[in-house]
Amino acid sequence: MDDFRYLHGSLYCESVAVQDIARAVGTPTYVYSGATLESHFTKLRDAFAPLSPLLCYSVKCCSNLAILKRLAQLGAGMDVVSGGEIFRACAAGADPRHFVYAGVGKSDAEIRLALEHGIGLFNVESEMEFENLSRLAHETGTPARAALRVNPDVDPKTHRHTTTGKRESKFGVDLERAVAFFHAYGRDPHIALRGIHLHIGSPVYSTAPYLQSVVKALALIDDLARAGFPVDTLDLGGGFGADYESDQTPLATEYANAIVPLLCDRVARGLRIILEPGRTIAANAGILLTKVEYVKRSGDRTFAICDAGMNTLLRPSHYDAFHFVWPAEVDVSLVPPRRAREIILPGLQRTEVVGPLCETGDFLAQDRMLPPLDRGDLLAVYSAGAYGMTMASRYNSHPLPTEVLVEGSTFRVIRERESYSDLIQHERA
Ligand SMILES: *Cc1c(COP(=O)(O)O)cnc(C)c1O
Repeated sequence: MDDFRYLHGSLYCESVAVQDIARAVGTPTYVYSGATLESHFTKLRDAFAPLSPLLCYSVKCCSNLAILKRLAQLGAGMDVVSGGEIFRACAAGADPRHFVYAGVGKSDAEIRLALEHGIGLFNVESEMEFENLSRLAHETGTPARAALRVNPDVDPKTHRHTTTGKRESKFGVDLERAVAFFHAYGRDPHIALRGIHLHIGSPVYSTAPYLQSVVKALALIDDLARAGFPVDTLDLGGGFGADYESDQTPLATEYANAIVPLLCDRVARGLRIILEPGRTIAANAGILLTKVEYVKRSGDRTFAICDAGMNTLLRPSHYDAFHFVWPAEVDVSLVPPRRAREIILPGLQRTEVVGPLCETGDFLAQDRMLPPLDRGDLLAVYSAGAYGMTMASRYNSHPLPTEVLVEGSTFRVIRERESYSDLIQHERA
């Protein structure tokens, strides 16, 4: 699952005690394991090897330059959703020819930037967007390739905020409109429309929604071929799960075993496959370290008030997401046997793990059985590598957290802690 383990009651990331990281750089801090990142990427690559897909890492899930650089060096392309992500991924040294660019609201400036960099594929989400893209490609004299994002109308059975492939979603165009879309734009002189793009939601904990949407996409590709529009690229999007609790998500090989057989002969006949994994690579590669500032009782509840909150990690309050939380230093009898909602060990206390913000929705973990906590204790919030730092804000004027990358027995700061002057540097009184 990952490279975060207890040794004699101390939590280690690879060969570094996370307590040493907190001592050196303070808290709140995101700590990433280079080894976990790499192993998740290579497991996925190996599982899908029969399709030789281009794996475009979803930049929005964890976008630090050092992370992008490391994945680009492993051969990852990039799945970008904004001009800022294009800029960032290029700054990390990734090759724009291996970028795919999705997003329902691409601005002219963003499209121009993408054309300038010669990105590999625009994933177009509406008729109006295609016309605008074609106009800009014409004006700038930079032809490009595009895929149509279709909405296969399958239910990925995930949180409503991250369900993206149902009919009533703002993403893509409905499957039934796809053939008409190609009739209208499939012979555009500036944009070669040759692909189909899907992204049904995230996290998707079963393979069935992928099967359903791939079957629908292949039927569409056949319809399009009959209508004289050959499709050479099928982008399946992302959404593979992560282990927020131990052994809860299908392995890369299980997703692959379901998907690969459907596509092998198509690939042999020249169809190019793209995947856009984010969470499944980064989530378990990161933890958030936070310090307990105070412990207090209100009514019959115990609150551990930490220096990280919804400003640092938004997922618990925004998605009702579960993140396993445990002290980084514990008596050996209190090392958790697994990461789960219910941990049964002697002496645990029902605890609310909350942040410092002036907001009741500001929590990291609710109603958890935890070892008794005290001021100064260091807590690890697990599986925080994806949609953690990238969704952090400066709400209540707390500076953004630090990020640290561990590699073997060494660690380095990959994002410095912000100062108070960073908070106001773009403001003018
Ligand atoms: C967010 C996103 C992804 C990545 O989703 P994960 O669940 O992190 O794998 C892939 N493709 C598109 C278009 C996205 O918006």
